Amino acid sequence: MANSTDKIPTIDDLIKLDQDDPLNWTRDEFEIPNIKACGGEGDGGAIYFCGNSLGLLSKKARKHMIEELDVWSTSSVTGHFSHPHKRPWKHVDQPLTPHLAKLVGAKESEVAHSSTLTSNMHNLFTSFYRPTIKRWKIVIEKGSFPSDWYAVHSHPKLHEAVLSPQQIDEAIIGLEPREGEDTLRTEDILKVIEENQDEIAIVWLPLVQYYTGQLFDIATISPKVHSIGALLGLDMAHGIGNVECKLNEWDVDFAVWCTYKYLNSGPAGIGGFYVKDGLDNGGRRLAGWWGNDSATRFQMLPEFNPTKGAKGYQHSCTPVFSSIPLLSTLELINKIGFNKMLKKQKDLTGLLEKLLKSSKYYKPFLNTKNQNELGFKILTPEFPFRGTQLSISILPENNKEIMPKIFSRLIKNGLIGDERYPNVIRLSPVVLYNKFEEIGKAFKILEDAFKAEEDGKEFENEIDLDMISKD
Ligand SMILES: *Cc1c(COP(=O)(O)O)cnc(C)c1O
Repeated sequence: MANSTDKIPTIDDLIKLDQDDPLNWTRDEFEIPNIKACGGEGDGGAIYFCGNSLGLLSKKARKHMIEELDVWSTSSVTGHFSHPHKRPWKHVDQPLTPHLAKLVGAKESEVAHSSTLTSNMHNLFTSFYRPTIKRWKIVIEKGSFPSDWYAVHSHPKLHEAVLSPQQIDEAIIGLEPREGEDTLRTEDILKVIEENQDEIAIVWLPLVQYYTGQLFDIATISPKVHSIGALLGLDMAHGIGNVECKLNEWDVDFAVWCTYKYLNSGPAGIGGFYVKDGLDNGGRRLAGWWGNDSATRFQMLPEFNPTKGAKGYQHSCTPVFSSIPLLSTLELINKIGFNKMLKKQKDLTGLLEKLLKSSKYYKPFLNTKNQNELGFKILTPEFPFRGTQLSISILPENNKEIMPKIFSRLIKNGLIGDERYPNVIRLSPVVLYNKFEEIGKAFKILEDAFKAEEDGKEFENEIDLDMISKD
């Protein structure tokens, strides 16, 4: 926090923080969603803490999108080559590449802007998951995003000529937190890698976990993965535009991301991927004309001549209508400097954490006395092992009915987070468009929601606390 006293700040203190914030101008670059349209009651802007799921529309993006529609309307196919705003569609990815490379900590040759996250994952697994009878296993978290879990499970089956049915069944190693814990410990990941060192082909991890918000210690994990002769792949869906990504420095082999979360490319917008320079694909690659050398692409030759680097793994021409909003945000981030964003993020999320921890409903330690009480705990690790997002788990853990009620009350009062069944609410104050004042207001809405739940006696303590042990 900017002022690091332990006092809980008042709304006036937060307004002052916003006034003094050197990045306070960026909010005005975005269109803030409306409470009523989001399902709440009242007028005005919602408190939007859901940029981890869908980033907001920037005003520049709206302007540029309208320009693109006009170019489509007036110039039609010629917009691919000559474009009144100097964004010829044929090369629409070109201005994106340098920004993306910088943001993920890689060389431009290692970055491509293409397709969507899961498809990019399949694309890269086709080239880099090349199992042998000795080394065929894939490590992934059991609690991973379902798309990653499904995708990873589908690959060993494509290798029936090499792997036995039993090997296919045993191909996936699922990482799990320790009993009673919510996030994975780095030491436990290292241990699993060590224990299966001869059999692991790929370790697939998120940079930031979608459910818990945990930031993985890739700098520590990567050398271990490489020391056993496996490859390290990263899902950066919740990492890119949120936390520092250092793909080269961490020596990651390949990675994928989407851009509709922290990079505001719009619903289901384009994805991207990274392939470390020189990574051997064993001569296996899914080919498409957009992966062909751009110098000869339009000669329509029968022979596929891949572009060097990551762009050689592209398939189709680049979707213009999600690249344009993405470019607006990338240019904005470039103008601000990502390091400055990281500093503000630490302060914003740190403030939310501080307020949450001050709540009487905050129950970090469950015991026989309080385990049936209404409240919440924070699943997300403390700084530095997190980014923007804080995930709270609504208590008591065995009651699945409270979270949806709390969540509806948040929406009703204009706080837009998102819910993950059974018990989790994710809140992500985003540097580009959220303010300190909103964190104070959001906290009040959350406390009021718990209070309403408590007062409404909709939740009854079923166990007589005096009857059970006093420890
Ligand atoms: C958002 C997200 C996805 C979404 O995949 P799409 O292919 O873009 O639909 C996949 N994996 C993770 C970890 C995500 O957070």
